[in-house]
Amino acid sequence: MDPFIPFNRPHVTGREYDCIREAVANGHLSGNGPFTRRCAAWLERTTGCRRALLTHSGTGALELAAMLLDLSLGDEVIMPSFTFVSTANAFVLRGAVPVFVDIREDTLNIDPRLVEAAVTPRTRAIVAVHYAGVGCDMDALAAVAARHGLVVVEDAAQAVLATYNGRELGTFGDLAAVSFHETKNVLAGEGGALLVNAPRYVERAEVLWEKGTDRSRFLQGLVDKYTWQDIGSSFQPSELAAAFLWPQLEASAQTTAERLAIWRRYHSAFAALEASGLVRRPFIPAGAEHNAHIYFLLLAPGLSRADILADLAADGVNAVFHYVPLHDSPAGRRFARAHGTLTNTERLSARLVRLPLWVGLTDAEIARVIDRVSRAVARAAAGARASG
Ligand SMILES: *Cc1c(COP(=O)(O)O)cnc(C)c1O
Repeated sequence: MDPFIPFNRPHVTGREYDCIREAVANGHLSGNGPFTRRCAAWLERTTGCRRALLTHSGTGALELAAMLLDLSLGDEVIMPSFTFVSTANAFVLRGAVPVFVDIREDTLNIDPRLVEAAVTPRTRAIVAVHYAGVGCDMDALAAVAARHGLVVVEDAAQAVLATYNGRELGTFGDLAAVSFHETKNVLAGEGGALLVNAPRYVERAEVLWEKGTDRSRFLQGLVDKYTWQDIGSSFQPSELAAAFLWPQLEASAQTTAERLAIWRRYHSAFAALEASGLVRRPFIPAGAEHNAHIYFLLLAPGLSRADILADLAADGVNAVFHYVPLHDSPAGRRFARAHGTLTNTERLSARLVRLPLWVGLTDAEIARVIDRVSRAVARAAAGARASG
């Protein structure tokens, strides 16, 4: 059998070791040290957000965002069901109810046309998840939010260095969460950041981020002692994680370019398969500059995804799928509700296959993935015809 091609291999630039050594030499290992500040300044400069607060995870950034909304028990937050659990969990932890609406058939992002119908007197926020680093229709979401006085939170976990109408994702919402998990484009093992755009949240975000204290003001010399001011928690990454992240941020444009090159190879290679009607390729709307976070294919109805993934595994290609829609999960049924039918969410999530995509994937490996996927899909199609 050919050598195994993993689904993901965390990209390491090589400079992380030097930076971690520097962090140790600095003698500052806990949070909010020199590397944390450097990374935050980079995020502010590069995205244009008002304030970036580094967190231990994208999940932590979403939780911090949810805390800032001051939700009451039973308040509602509209979001897609086709997303990672943390998008919903962050709000459930505050006593709010996620209200799921369906996704668009083309981008798999939340359908703005369905959001307005889901608004009730309890609705407080809309969460826009930029799936695969492809921007949601932020103009349409902002219009609904403005009409109903709602907060917009971007789950930009997958969207670092992606733009919409020329503007960085993560700067459209009042608040945004990004992730530096090892499966993301830019990584720190575990890590994330809250991007604060609405000025009214800046000061309080720093308090909650500092475990509910005014330590940020103390460090600036604005108070002579720091004390408990508000709710909060331990959200900061250690300086070791921030030191790992720093060279990753510096290399992020290069990383994105290398991922895009792989993405485009897949995309042109699978045009023929799409023309044959067996798969659908990702759709990138005008105005969205994505970051090649994910390459996926949507299988035609009737093709067995399980058979295709098993075939690929037997050929040494580790392809995977996601998400199990949240409304269809045990916790989703318990803590959330769906607005209307989630037909696209159910149909498309059941047919999605993600292919290996990581910096360092060789031309030969890419060619092998393309070849094996084409064969596995053709076999599944033959099987469907035989049984059908
Ligand atoms: C990865 C991801 C998260 C969670 O980020 P972590 O850093 O793993 O906590 C949240 N939402 C989406 C859409 C993600 O892809």
